[in-house]
Amino acid sequence: MAGLAKLSLVMRHEAWRAAGTRGLTPTQAQILAILGGSTSPLGVKAIARQLAVTVGTASGAISTLVAKGLVAKQADEADGRAIVLTLTAPGKQEAEQAAKWPDAMLHAIGALPGSEQAGLLRGLVGMVRALQEQGAVPTARMCVGCRYFRPNEYPGQPKPHHCQFIDAPIGDTDLRIDCDEMEPAAAEIQPVLWNVFLNGTPLDSKGPARRHGPRAGGQPSHTPSKGDPS
Ligand code: SF4
Repeated sequence: MAGLAKLSLVMRHEAWRAAGTRGLTPTQAQILAILGGSTSPLGVKAIARQLAVTVGTASGAISTLVAKGLVAKQADEADGRAIVLTLTAPGKQEAEQAAKWPDAMLHAIGALPGSEQAGLLRGLVGMVRALQEQGAVPTARMCVGCRYFRPNEYPGQPKPHHCQFIDAPIGDTDLRIDCDEMEPAAAEIQPVLWNVFLNGTPLDSKGPARRHGPRAGGQPSHTPSKGDPS
């Protein structure tokens, strides 16, 4: 807990410092990063949910971003009465900066051997999943809950998992915690995915036969294509 608290301290300090140099609060910077990482415009409620703050808090920060000319409001194409938010051109530039990791954290993680980076990411995935189940954090778009994820498809290989969206093997260091392409697996499948991920048993023993083999060298395809998620 003491170690996590120290990491949190660095993250908070760096978030205030980085956002402050650009005249933003950390919440405003996070909103820009969320809009920048989204494939479609988002409404205020969706942003509040991702930030785990009240709609009122998100609305206040968004109003400031609109006043600064970084975010624009427009009618939702699917529901003309609803308002969605998009980034302006200057907002896109700010969003790129806001999405960057603090240098101090990048250096600290880069100093770890690859195997420990992978272990750290697996641990984070497990913690985020547990917090998600308790309702303590918003639902994350993670591999371990994704219909395209085939955990431990290739046991013992450097990239033991398979992403059916890009139709390529992925390793522990490739696991995603916020993936735009993530689509939730059926509720009854999610615990199975998690068990297979944790225990290393190929999914084939509990479901359909394996249909993919790792590519030579275990490298991902350079031409991603949507695989059959069944
Ligand atoms: S689509 Fe994204 S979340 Fe789903 S398995 Fe592939 S990389 Fe992971």
